[in-house]
Amino acid sequence: MGGGLIGLATARELLQRGLKVTLVEKEPRPGAHQSSHNSGVLHCGLYYQPGSLKARMAVEGIASMTQYCAEKRIPHEICGKLVVAADPSEIPRMEALLERGKANGLLGLECLTSEQAKRIEPSIRCAAALRVPQEGIVDYAFVARSYVQDIKDLGGAIWLASRVCSLEKQRKTWRVGLAAPGSLSTKGQEAESIVADLVVNCGGLQCDRIARLSGLRPENRIVPFRGQYWKLHSRWQDRVKNLIYPVPNPELPFLGVHLTRMIQGGIEVGPNAFLALGRESYTFLQPNLKDLWDAITFPGLWRFMLKYPKVTLHELFLTFSRRVFAKEVCRLVPGITPDDLQMGISGIRAQSMRPDGSLVQDFDLAHQPGMLHVLNAPSPGATASLAIAGHLANEAQKALEMVS
Ligand SMILES: Cc1cc2nc3c(=O)[nH]c(=O)nc-3n(C[C@H](O)[C@H](O)[C@H](O)COP(=O)(O)OP(=O)(O)OC[C@H]3O[C@@H](n4cnc5c(N)ncnc54)[C@H](O)[C@@H]3O)c2cc1C
Repeated sequence: MGGGLIGLATARELLQRGLKVTLVEKEPRPGAHQSSHNSGVLHCGLYYQPGSLKARMAVEGIASMTQYCAEKRIPHEICGKLVVAADPSEIPRMEALLERGKANGLLGLECLTSEQAKRIEPSIRCAAALRVPQEGIVDYAFVARSYVQDIKDLGGAIWLASRVCSLEKQRKTWRVGLAAPGSLSTKGQEAESIVADLVVNCGGLQCDRIARLSGLRPENRIVPFRGQYWKLHSRWQDRVKNLIYPVPNPELPFLGVHLTRMIQGGIEVGPNAFLALGRESYTFLQPNLKDLWDAITFPGLWRFMLKYPKVTLHELFLTFSRRVFAKEVCRLVPGITPDDLQMGISGIRAQSMRPDGSLVQDFDLAHQPGMLHVLNAPSPGATASLAIAGHLANEAQKALEMVS
């Protein structure tokens, strides 16, 4: 269930292991949400807690993704990135990141002085920088299309415009009910159904709701965090070489506003992170009242905002003011003005939050007899999609063994 990068990669993996697979996706095209609204960065595992699933999947994932892109001739580039300590006070956190990256087995990491860093990115201002040579860029929408072709070649079926609206446990199987296209209701307006021995929930922004359809009661909630991207004026094209990132707040899974050279050309700046007005509300003109109600009645959100009042306020200003956004980017690359920023895409992160307001940092799975749920798959989920698919296919075996 779910035709984003993780659902597609998992379908592909299960087909390669000899299973008969049908993938159902509610949108008329695959990869329509997070998988095509992201930074397009190949993350190599710098940020993640050593030993976590995320760290393992990122390290394995970038290797399998770059190999896949090379085999399928998908444009990509391992261009490297700089994590910039804009201020001397950020250097200890930058050095901690270096240790974390080393613990995760990354190669070639080095701390640079300001002069050394400026030889790589002449436009930055920094006290010091961390060079991460293994990171790169790719177009994930292209990758998603390639996964679709693989699934077709392997004999799998993809049902588009097919929204899962009910999940019913039968003796040894699950009955997956699909809503008629355009229907908003849950049960009652089923158009079709599929009976399956094994069901995998890769529903991204809707994964907790899909889990509830199966009778699971996850206490964590998906809180949608919207991020706005801006396109940088072409006069900066030759002045921003590759990827320029800030030193992130270690308590939050968001990496901070960064500059990304896109594989299709152009430079993007962003994203910030503020509550979206709906799980799929990409602009403020399309609020979804049900989603909004769900979010604001979740105590975790209020606890989160009380825990991080300064961050919340700052992100609010970043959301509504191009001037504040330009000022934020100027911490890394001075001289960028509001006029250099033209509104680009926005993306919405499916971030799982606990009732105590803390954010689930790692990938999160839940098992039921014959069913496996992916309940948190934030960045670097795109980079790691092939590695996650391998892991999910192994975990699916456990879910099958639970069937009495
Ligand atoms: C702003 C942003 C920047 C990011 N940057 C990066 C990056 O640079 N590098 C990186 O590696 N990762 C990045 N990520 C993370 C990455 O994009 C995600 O981890 C990955 O795309 C998750 O894939 P998915 O398949 O789980 O989710 P999605 O792509 O959201 O797919 C879920 C699918 O499920 C479908 N669905 C939902 N409900 C139903 C239903 N009831 N029935 C049927 N189908 C359903 C949806 O329509 C959707 O297509 C970023 C994410 C965001 C939002």
